Amino acid sequence: MSEAIDPRAPQRLRHDTRLRLLTVTHVTDITPLMRRFRLEGDMEGFVSPAHADHIKAFFFPEGVEPRLVPVGANGAEFAPGERPEMRDYTPRYWNVAEGWIELDFVLHGDGPASSWAATAGPGKTLVIGGPRGSVVVPAAYDWYLLVGDETALPAIGRRIEELPAGAKVIALVEVDNPAEEQSFATAAALELTYLHRNGAPAGTTTLLQDAVAARAFPQGDAYAYIAGESTMSKAVRAHLTETRGFNPEWVKAAGYWLLGVADAHEPH
Ligand SMILES: Cc1cc2nc3c(=O)[nH]c(=O)nc-3n(C[C@H](O)[C@H](O)[C@H](O)COP(=O)(O)OP(=O)(O)OC[C@H]3O[C@@H](n4cnc5c(N)ncnc54)[C@H](O)[C@@H]3O)c2cc1C
Repeated sequence: MSEAIDPRAPQRLRHDTRLRLLTVTHVTDITPLMRRFRLEGDMEGFVSPAHADHIKAFFFPEGVEPRLVPVGANGAEFAPGERPEMRDYTPRYWNVAEGWIELDFVLHGDGPASSWAATAGPGKTLVIGGPRGSVVVPAAYDWYLLVGDETALPAIGRRIEELPAGAKVIALVEVDNPAEEQSFATAAALELTYLHRNGAPAGTTTLLQDAVAARAFPQGDAYAYIAGESTMSKAVRAHLTETRGFNPEWVKAAGYWLLGVADAHEPH
């Protein structure tokens, strides 16, 4: 007899990896430090079924025009000296038929991705690849916990908007100041709390750890998604699984960046 499958079990999906050369058509500052880019081009075959999905954005060396390259068994194949920097971004909104995608960039001030976002205007091109895979978390839990800094706001916003009526969501989000808060339309029952660094550098406070530790949680089985600075993400995961009785299988904690280290990201 086969074992019953838990309807809550996250499902792992693989997708065909395809590179796309897209052109910026609109740039919108949704808050002073969060810049949304609409990019247009061939979006055929694009899928992103999960809020924690990411695309790779390619930032070519100075003087190298962004262009498509062949994809081999080991990924994209670049000519010597043309290997770009790659950074992960969340597909925020997209429309395959109309051929566009929107990505939200935090303007944190340092690094190839943030520098590109600070200056790129309409007509600028960007190569993206993926998502290569997705982990789809069914809307079958008693409630959902979302914890993150502003780099996770695109993913947290997606999750909040995509959860159906009846879903209970607690979200704790750290941003610099009240002007950085975003609001989301949702059918779910949402309790969204923003925490403010008020000028302290990102990644240097324990605002999220403290807020999670102080928070009383509802009864029932929860799925927790934590993303943002890596040390924070690891600490919140440890607190939930070691102190608050969360099932480790139902806690996804991602290090989206690491204070003081370029191009750092890791699952915990
Ligand atoms: C799955 C996934 C999805 C992501 N989605 C998004 C998204 O939708 N939008 C988004 O803005 N970011 C997102 N990120 C985070 C983003 O990829 C990182 O912040 C990345 O490091 C930015 O690259 P960079 O070239 O600007 O800086 P890097 O060259 O990587 O780093 C340069 C310096 O800046 C610091 N730094 C990096 N990010 C930040 C930050 N946010 N605040 C302060 N200092 C920082 C580093 O510690 C380092 O000292 C995501 C990451 C992952 C793993």
